[in-house]
Amino acid sequence: MRDGMTRVETYGTELEAEMALNQLQAMGISGVLEKDDADGLMPQLDMIEGIVLLVFPEDAAQARAILQGTGGDGSGPWTCPACGEEGEPGYDACWNCGRERM
Ligand SMILES: [Zn+2]
Repeated sequence: MRDGMTRVETYGTELEAEMALNQLQAMGISGVLEKDDADGLMPQLDMIEGIVLLVFPEDAAQARAILQGTGGDGSGPWTCPACGEEGEPGYDACWNCGRERM
């Protein structure tokens, strides 16, 4: 399920994660929740365990905008839909790959 999907956010509790997922689904974005346990390889890190919210890459930018409440109104941080880099507020194109902000 994780293949091809992009992490949007990590939550400390399942409740928070489910609320966020419901928010996305209300906007027509489908996502999945996955327990982030580092695949059990590093049990000493279980204190940073969380619930990861994953969506398809084409929905990632919109999902982040919804969760951050920016709604893509042209202000605040944004994420490049092409390469996933964090875009600078105030810029209309990705510094990394040149993709225009959506
Ligand atoms: Zn980019």
